[in-house]
Amino acid sequence: MTDATTHDQAEPSIFTRIIRREIPASVVAEDEHLIAFHDIAPQAPVHVLVVPKTEQYRDVVELAAGDPALLAEMVAFAHKIARDLADGDFRLVFNTGPEAGQTVFHVHAHVLAGGAKEDSLG
Ligand code: ADP
Repeated sequence: MTDATTHDQAEPSIFTRIIRREIPASVVAEDEHLIAFHDIAPQAPVHVLVVPKTEQYRDVVELAAGDPALLAEMVAFAHKIARDLADGDFRLVFNTGPEAGQTVFHVHAHVLAGGAKEDSLG
């Protein structure tokens, strides 16, 4: 395992490797700052990851402090994806820290949409 606790990771993150087209992904949208692609293990009918092209922020807390405009761009990107691929409604999830299930320490948003009733019980 690489040390995921530092900013100066010796290895590029798996998402950086997708951005560089070193490993394949099903890309749904891309612009100067962001890329979006289908999650390899979808948890909803639409499950897309929105990822900044920079990997300098490990999680959403760092991103919000360091570049709030980029965070706002991520939200707008997620909304567009939810409109393009579903009915426009969506959940936006940022797992933050290993105890919360974060496994890739390159900030990313999970956009979950479609079949929106699955979480409505309870
Ligand atoms: P978790 O693995 O608990 O969801 P994260 O919030 O860090 O933790 O999310 C990482 C996400 O990246 C996972 O949903 C995983 O399925 C996805 N993923 C990992 N590798 C790839 C890949 N090569 N292509 C697309 N999605 C990937």
